Amino acid sequence: MTRAYNFSAGPATLPEPVLRQVQAEMLEWNGVGASVVEISHRSAEFIELAARAEADLRRLMAIPDDYAVLFLSGGATTQQALLPLNFAAPGQAADYVVTGHWGKTAIRQARPCASVNVVADGEPEGFRDIPPREGWRLDPAAAYVHVTANETIHGVEFRDAPDVGGVPLIADFSSSIASEPIDVSRYAAIYAGAQKNLGPVGIAVVIVRRDLLERAGQPRADIFDYRSHAARDSMLNTPPTWNWYVLGLTVKWMLDQGGVEAFARRNADKSARVYAAIDASGGFYRNEVAVRARSRMNIPFFLPDETLTARFLAESKAAGLLALKGHKAVGGLRASLYNAMPVEGAQALVDFMRDFQQRHG
Ligand SMILES: *Cc1c(COP(=O)(O)O)cnc(C)c1O
Repeated sequence: MTRAYNFSAGPATLPEPVLRQVQAEMLEWNGVGASVVEISHRSAEFIELAARAEADLRRLMAIPDDYAVLFLSGGATTQQALLPLNFAAPGQAADYVVTGHWGKTAIRQARPCASVNVVADGEPEGFRDIPPREGWRLDPAAAYVHVTANETIHGVEFRDAPDVGGVPLIADFSSSIASEPIDVSRYAAIYAGAQKNLGPVGIAVVIVRRDLLERAGQPRADIFDYRSHAARDSMLNTPPTWNWYVLGLTVKWMLDQGGVEAFARRNADKSARVYAAIDASGGFYRNEVAVRARSRMNIPFFLPDETLTARFLAESKAAGLLALKGHKAVGGLRASLYNAMPVEGAQALVDFMRDFQQRHG
Protein backbone atom coordinates (compact mmCIF):
# COMPACT_ATOMS: atom_id res chain seq x y z
CA MET A 1 0.00 0.00 0.00
CA THR A 2 1.25 3.49 -0.82
CA ARG A 3 -0.39 6.56 0.57
CA ALA A 4 -0.19 9.47 -1.85
CA TYR A 5 0.47 13.05 -0.78
CA ASN A 6 -3.04 14.40 -0.41
CA PHE A 7 -3.47 18.14 -0.98
CA SER A 8 -7.25 18.11 -0.47
CA ALA A 9 -8.69 21.29 1.05
CA GLY A 10 -11.08 19.36 3.27
CA PRO A 11 -11.82 16.74 4.33
CA ALA A 12 -8.07 16.59 4.28
CA THR A 13 -5.06 14.42 4.96
CA LEU A 14 -4.69 13.06 8.50
CA PRO A 15 -1.44 12.01 10.20
CA GLU A 16 -0.58 8.41 9.32
CA PRO A 17 0.20 7.48 12.97
CA VAL A 18 -3.32 8.61 13.91
CA LEU A 19 -4.89 6.47 11.18
CA ARG A 20 -2.79 3.49 12.26
CA GLN A 21 -3.90 3.86 15.87
CA VAL A 22 -7.53 4.14 14.74
CA GLN A 23 -7.05 0.97 12.71
CA ALA A 24 -5.48 -0.89 15.62
CA GLU A 25 -8.29 0.16 17.97
CA MET A 26 -11.15 -0.32 15.51
CA LEU A 27 -12.57 -3.54 16.98
CA GLU A 28 -11.71 -3.05 20.60
CA TRP A 29 -10.82 0.21 22.33
CA ASN A 30 -9.21 0.84 25.68
CA GLY A 31 -10.07 -2.54 27.18
CA VAL A 32 -13.84 -1.92 27.06
CA GLY A 33 -14.65 -4.94 24.88
CA ALA A 34 -16.15 -2.80 22.10
CA SER A 35 -15.03 -0.10 19.68
CA VAL A 36 -15.15 3.53 20.74
CA VAL A 37 -18.10 4.15 18.35
CA GLU A 38 -20.17 1.49 20.08
CA ILE A 39 -20.11 2.78 23.65
CA SER A 40 -22.15 5.37 25.49
CA HIS A 41 -20.95 8.95 25.53
CA ARG A 42 -21.96 8.87 29.20
CA SER A 43 -19.59 6.00 30.01
CA ALA A 44 -16.68 6.82 32.31
CA GLU A 45 -14.24 5.81 29.56
CA PHE A 46 -15.69 8.15 26.97
CA ILE A 47 -16.01 11.03 29.41
CA GLU A 48 -12.31 10.60 30.19
CA LEU A 49 -11.47 10.60 26.45
CA ALA A 50 -13.50 13.78 25.96
CA ALA A 51 -11.90 15.55 28.90
CA ARG A 52 -8.42 14.55 27.73
CA ALA A 53 -9.08 15.87 24.21
CA GLU A 54 -10.19 19.18 25.69
CA ALA A 55 -7.19 19.38 28.05
CA ASP A 56 -4.82 18.58 25.16
CA LEU A 57 -6.41 21.18 22.88
CA ARG A 58 -6.18 23.75 25.69
CA ARG A 59 -2.48 22.94 26.08
CA LEU A 60 -1.82 22.91 22.33
CA MET A 61 -3.43 26.32 21.78
CA ALA A 62 -2.68 27.84 25.23
CA ILE A 63 -6.39 28.51 25.75
CA PRO A 64 -6.96 30.61 28.90
CA ASP A 65 -9.24 29.29 31.66
CA ASP A 66 -11.83 32.02 31.13
CA TYR A 67 -12.66 30.42 27.76
CA ALA A 68 -15.05 27.50 27.29
CA VAL A 69 -14.20 24.89 24.67
CA LEU A 70 -17.18 23.27 22.96
CA PHE A 71 -17.15 20.17 20.75
CA LEU A 72 -20.29 20.29 18.62
CA SER A 73 -21.96 18.29 15.87
CA GLY A 74 -21.91 19.82 12.46
CA GLY A 75 -19.52 22.09 10.65
CA ALA A 76 -18.28 25.63 10.63
CA THR A 77 -21.31 26.75 8.62
CA THR A 78 -23.57 25.67 11.47
CA GLN A 79 -21.59 27.88 13.85
CA GLN A 80 -21.94 30.78 11.41
CA ALA A 81 -25.71 30.49 11.85
CA LEU A 82 -25.47 30.14 15.64
CA LEU A 83 -23.24 33.19 16.21
CA PRO A 84 -25.94 35.86 15.83
CA LEU A 85 -28.51 33.73 17.69
CA ASN A 86 -26.20 33.49 20.68
CA PHE A 87 -24.39 36.81 20.65
CA ALA A 88 -26.55 39.47 18.94
CA ALA A 89 -29.68 40.97 20.47
CA PRO A 90 -32.74 41.10 18.18
CA GLY A 91 -32.07 43.74 15.54
CA GLN A 92 -28.55 44.46 16.80
CA ALA A 93 -25.91 45.03 14.15
CA ALA A 94 -22.97 42.68 13.60
CA ASP A 95 -19.89 43.73 11.61
CA TYR A 96 -18.44 41.41 8.97
CA VAL A 97 -15.09 41.71 7.19
CA VAL A 98 -15.11 39.76 3.93
CA THR A 99 -11.80 38.49 2.56
CA GLY A 100 -13.11 35.55 0.51
CA HIS A 101 -15.78 32.93 -0.02
CA TRP A 102 -16.22 31.90 3.63
CA GLY A 103 -16.73 35.44 4.86
CA LYS A 104 -19.63 35.66 2.42
CA THR A 105 -21.02 32.37 3.68
CA ALA A 106 -20.83 33.65 7.26
CA ILE A 107 -22.93 36.64 6.24
CA ARG A 108 -25.48 34.48 4.46
CA GLN A 109 -25.88 32.38 7.60
CA ALA A 110 -26.14 35.44 9.88
CA ARG A 111 -28.58 37.55 7.84
CA PRO A 112 -31.80 35.89 9.04
CA CYS A 113 -30.91 36.72 12.66
CA ALA A 114 -28.80 39.86 12.64
CA SER A 115 -28.53 43.18 10.94
CA VAL A 116 -25.30 42.56 9.02
CA ASN A 117 -22.89 45.39 8.22
CA VAL A 118 -20.22 44.59 5.67
CA VAL A 119 -17.50 46.84 7.08
CA ALA A 120 -14.83 45.86 4.56
CA ASP A 121 -15.00 43.75 1.42
CA GLY A 122 -12.12 42.42 -0.65
CA GLU A 123 -14.35 41.23 -3.49
CA PRO A 124 -14.11 44.34 -5.72
CA GLU A 125 -10.32 43.74 -5.78
CA GLY A 126 -10.86 40.04 -6.54
CA PHE A 127 -10.00 38.93 -2.97
CA ARG A 128 -6.31 39.52 -3.63
CA ASP A 129 -5.61 41.26 -0.33
CA ILE A 130 -7.06 42.15 3.07
CA PRO A 131 -8.74 45.56 2.88
CA PRO A 132 -6.56 47.97 4.91
CA ARG A 133 -7.67 48.21 8.52
CA GLU A 134 -7.89 52.05 8.35
CA GLY A 135 -10.77 51.75 5.90
CA TRP A 136 -12.97 49.41 7.97
CA ARG A 137 -16.21 51.18 8.91
CA LEU A 138 -16.61 49.54 12.33
CA ASP A 139 -19.69 50.20 14.48
CA PRO A 140 -18.68 50.57 18.16
CA ALA A 141 -22.18 49.33 19.12
CA ALA A 142 -21.98 46.16 17.00
CA ALA A 143 -22.56 42.82 18.73
CA TYR A 144 -19.26 41.54 17.34
CA VAL A 145 -16.84 41.80 14.43
CA HIS A 146 -16.45 38.65 12.32
CA VAL A 147 -13.34 37.81 10.30
CA THR A 148 -12.13 34.71 8.47
CA ALA A 149 -8.61 34.03 9.74
CA ASN A 150 -7.75 32.02 6.64
CA GLU A 151 -9.80 31.97 3.45
CA THR A 152 -9.51 28.36 2.28
CA ILE A 153 -10.67 28.99 -1.30
CA HIS A 154 -9.10 32.38 -2.07
CA GLY A 155 -5.86 31.76 -0.15
CA VAL A 156 -5.97 34.98 1.89
CA GLU A 157 -4.78 34.85 5.51
CA PHE A 158 -4.62 37.35 8.35
CA ARG A 159 -1.11 37.47 9.81
CA ASP A 160 -2.43 38.68 13.16
CA ALA A 161 -5.65 39.46 15.00
CA PRO A 162 -6.89 42.88 13.79
CA ASP A 163 -7.44 45.56 16.42
CA VAL A 164 -11.21 46.17 16.61
CA GLY A 165 -11.30 48.16 19.83
CA GLY A 166 -13.71 47.01 22.50
CA VAL A 167 -16.06 45.08 20.21
CA PRO A 168 -15.73 41.28 20.55
CA LEU A 169 -13.73 39.77 17.69
CA ILE A 170 -14.99 36.43 16.36
CA ALA A 171 -12.86 34.48 13.91
CA ASP A 172 -13.45 31.50 11.62
CA PHE A 173 -10.24 29.47 12.02
CA SER A 174 -11.52 26.38 10.20
CA SER A 175 -8.52 26.04 7.90
CA SER A 176 -5.73 27.40 10.10
CA ILE A 177 -6.50 26.41 13.69
CA ALA A 178 -3.41 25.15 15.53
CA SER A 179 -1.17 25.91 12.56
CA GLU A 180 0.89 28.46 14.52
CA PRO A 181 0.85 30.08 17.98
CA ILE A 182 -1.94 32.63 18.40
CA ASP A 183 -2.95 34.80 21.33
CA VAL A 184 -6.43 33.41 22.02
CA SER A 185 -7.18 36.32 24.36
CA ARG A 186 -7.27 38.67 21.34
CA TYR A 187 -10.48 36.91 20.25
CA ALA A 188 -13.86 36.72 21.97
CA ALA A 189 -14.58 33.51 20.08
CA ILE A 190 -12.81 31.21 17.66
CA TYR A 191 -14.56 28.44 15.75
CA ALA A 192 -13.47 25.75 13.33
CA GLY A 193 -14.83 22.74 11.53
CA ALA A 194 -12.35 19.95 12.30
CA GLN A 195 -11.87 18.54 8.81
CA LYS A 196 -9.02 20.80 7.69
CA ASN A 197 -6.48 20.83 10.48
CA LEU A 198 -7.92 18.97 13.48
CA GLY A 199 -9.41 15.66 12.42
CA PRO A 200 -12.47 14.25 10.67
CA VAL A 201 -15.52 16.11 9.39
CA GLY A 202 -18.66 16.16 11.53
CA ILE A 203 -17.37 17.96 14.60
CA ALA A 204 -16.69 21.63 15.18
CA VAL A 205 -14.72 23.32 17.95
CA VAL A 206 -15.90 26.59 19.47
CA ILE A 207 -13.58 28.43 21.85
CA VAL A 208 -15.55 31.19 23.50
CA ARG A 209 -14.82 33.66 26.29
CA ARG A 210 -17.21 32.80 29.10
CA ASP A 211 -18.56 36.33 29.53
CA LEU A 212 -19.98 36.16 25.99
CA LEU A 213 -22.03 33.15 27.05
CA GLU A 214 -23.91 35.46 29.42
CA ARG A 215 -25.34 37.46 26.55
CA ALA A 216 -29.08 37.10 26.09
CA GLY A 217 -28.90 36.67 22.35
CA GLN A 218 -32.18 35.66 20.75
CA PRO A 219 -34.89 33.10 21.46
CA ARG A 220 -33.44 29.71 20.59
CA ALA A 221 -33.82 26.04 21.42
CA ASP A 222 -31.21 24.88 23.91
CA ILE A 223 -29.61 22.68 21.25
CA PHE A 224 -28.64 25.95 19.48
CA ASP A 225 -27.49 27.55 22.72
CA TYR A 226 -23.75 27.65 23.39
CA ARG A 227 -24.44 28.32 27.06
CA SER A 228 -26.36 25.05 27.41
CA HIS A 229 -23.62 23.13 25.61
CA ALA A 230 -20.98 24.66 27.89
CA ALA A 231 -23.00 23.83 31.00
CA ARG A 232 -23.26 20.18 29.90
CA ASP A 233 -19.65 19.71 28.70
CA SER A 234 -20.88 19.43 25.07
CA MET A 235 -23.02 16.42 26.00
CA LEU A 236 -26.43 18.04 25.85
CA ASN A 237 -27.30 15.36 23.33
CA THR A 238 -25.20 12.57 21.80
CA PRO A 239 -22.00 14.20 20.61
CA PRO A 240 -20.12 12.91 17.53
CA THR A 241 -18.10 10.46 19.59
CA TRP A 242 -16.04 8.96 16.76
CA ASN A 243 -15.02 12.38 15.48
CA TRP A 244 -14.16 13.53 18.99
CA TYR A 245 -11.95 10.45 19.42
CA VAL A 246 -10.05 11.00 16.16
CA LEU A 247 -9.76 14.73 16.91
CA GLY A 248 -8.26 13.86 20.30
CA LEU A 249 -5.68 11.57 18.68
CA THR A 250 -4.81 14.27 16.13
CA VAL A 251 -4.34 16.92 18.84
CA LYS A 252 -2.19 14.50 20.83
CA TRP A 253 -0.09 13.85 17.73
CA MET A 254 0.41 17.62 17.30
CA LEU A 255 1.61 17.91 20.90
CA ASP A 256 3.98 14.97 20.42
CA GLN A 257 5.36 16.61 17.27
CA GLY A 258 6.39 19.73 19.19
CA GLY A 259 3.14 21.69 19.31
CA VAL A 260 2.12 24.78 17.38
CA GLU A 261 5.64 26.25 17.39
CA ALA A 262 6.94 23.23 15.48
CA PHE A 263 4.01 23.36 13.05
CA ALA A 264 4.46 27.10 12.52
CA ARG A 265 8.03 26.44 11.36
CA ARG A 266 7.00 23.54 9.13
CA ASN A 267 4.03 25.39 7.66
CA ALA A 268 6.16 28.45 6.89
CA ASP A 269 8.76 26.20 5.27
CA LYS A 270 6.23 24.24 3.17
CA SER A 271 4.37 27.29 1.90
CA ALA A 272 7.62 29.21 1.21
CA ARG A 273 8.78 26.35 -1.01
CA VAL A 274 5.57 26.33 -3.06
CA TYR A 275 5.37 30.14 -3.38
CA ALA A 276 9.04 30.23 -4.37
CA ALA A 277 8.34 27.70 -7.13
CA ILE A 278 5.42 29.83 -8.36
CA ASP A 279 7.39 33.08 -8.22
CA ALA A 280 10.45 31.55 -9.92
CA SER A 281 8.39 30.19 -12.83
CA GLY A 282 8.51 33.38 -14.90
CA GLY A 283 4.73 33.61 -14.97
CA PHE A 284 4.08 29.98 -15.96
CA TYR A 285 2.46 29.52 -12.53
CA ARG A 286 0.55 32.45 -11.02
CA ASN A 287 -0.73 33.28 -7.55
CA GLU A 288 -2.40 36.66 -7.44
CA VAL A 289 -2.67 37.28 -3.69
CA ALA A 290 -0.61 40.16 -2.23
CA VAL A 291 2.48 38.68 -0.59
CA ARG A 292 1.53 40.03 2.86
CA ALA A 293 -1.84 38.25 2.74
CA ARG A 294 -0.76 34.95 1.18
CA SER A 295 -2.10 31.92 3.02
CA ARG A 296 0.33 29.37 4.46
CA MET A 297 -2.41 26.75 4.41
CA ASN A 298 -4.08 26.97 1.00
CA ILE A 299 -2.26 28.10 -2.13
CA PRO A 300 -4.43 28.69 -5.19
CA PHE A 301 -2.40 28.91 -8.39
CA PHE A 302 -3.01 29.07 -12.08
CA LEU A 303 -1.48 27.87 -15.34
CA PRO A 304 -1.70 29.77 -18.63
CA ASP A 305 -4.69 27.76 -19.91
CA GLU A 306 -7.32 25.11 -19.14
CA THR A 307 -5.68 22.42 -21.26
CA LEU A 308 -2.48 22.66 -19.24
CA THR A 309 -4.49 22.69 -16.01
CA ALA A 310 -6.23 19.44 -16.97
CA ARG A 311 -2.89 17.91 -17.94
CA PHE A 312 -1.30 19.06 -14.64
CA LEU A 313 -4.11 17.41 -12.69
CA ALA A 314 -3.86 14.11 -14.55
CA GLU A 315 -0.06 13.95 -14.40
CA SER A 316 0.20 15.03 -10.75
CA LYS A 317 -2.35 12.41 -9.75
CA ALA A 318 -0.38 9.74 -11.59
CA ALA A 319 2.72 10.96 -9.72
CA GLY A 320 1.02 10.43 -6.34
CA LEU A 321 0.00 14.03 -5.69
CA LEU A 322 -3.75 14.08 -5.03
CA ALA A 323 -6.54 16.64 -5.08
CA LEU A 324 -4.75 19.66 -6.55
CA LYS A 325 -7.84 20.90 -8.41
CA GLY A 326 -8.85 24.44 -7.49
CA HIS A 327 -12.27 25.20 -6.01
CA LYS A 328 -14.90 25.71 -8.70
CA ALA A 329 -15.42 29.30 -7.55
CA VAL A 330 -11.92 30.28 -8.69
CA GLY A 331 -10.75 27.41 -10.94
CA GLY A 332 -7.11 26.57 -11.55
CA LEU A 333 -5.17 24.59 -8.97
CA ARG A 334 -4.88 24.64 -5.19
CA ALA A 335 -2.42 23.04 -2.79
CA SER A 336 -3.56 22.69 0.82
CA LEU A 337 -0.68 22.30 3.24
CA TYR A 338 -2.24 21.53 6.62
CA ASN A 339 -0.32 20.30 9.66
CA ALA A 340 -0.56 16.67 8.56
CA MET A 341 1.15 17.40 5.22
CA PRO A 342 4.87 16.64 5.67
CA VAL A 343 7.58 18.93 4.28
CA GLU A 344 8.45 16.07 1.92
CA GLY A 345 4.96 16.35 0.40
CA ALA A 346 5.38 20.06 -0.33
CA GLN A 347 8.83 19.37 -1.80
CA ALA A 348 7.41 16.56 -3.97
CA LEU A 349 4.87 19.06 -5.33
CA VAL A 350 7.59 21.63 -6.02
CA ASP A 351 9.72 19.03 -7.82
CA PHE A 352 6.70 18.01 -9.90
CA MET A 353 5.91 21.65 -10.74
CA ARG A 354 9.48 22.26 -12.01
CA ASP A 355 9.42 19.06 -14.05
CA PHE A 356 5.99 19.87 -15.49
CA GLN A 357 7.14 23.33 -16.51
CA GLN A 358 10.24 21.93 -18.20
CA ARG A 359 8.07 19.59 -20.24
CA HIS A 360 5.21 21.96 -21.03
CA GLY A 361 6.50 25.50 -20.42
C1 LIG B 1 -14.44 24.54 5.16
C2 LIG B 1 -14.71 25.87 5.74
C3 LIG B 1 -15.99 26.24 6.19
C4 LIG B 1 -17.20 25.34 6.05
O1 LIG B 1 -17.09 24.26 6.86
P1 LIG B 1 -18.27 23.15 6.95
O2 LIG B 1 -17.74 22.24 7.99
O3 LIG B 1 -18.36 22.51 5.60
O4 LIG B 1 -19.51 23.83 7.34
C5 LIG B 1 -16.14 27.49 6.74
N1 LIG B 1 -15.11 28.33 6.87
C6 LIG B 1 -13.87 28.01 6.44
C7 LIG B 1 -12.76 28.99 6.58
C8 LIG B 1 -13.64 26.77 5.86
O5 LIG B 1 -12.41 26.45 5.43
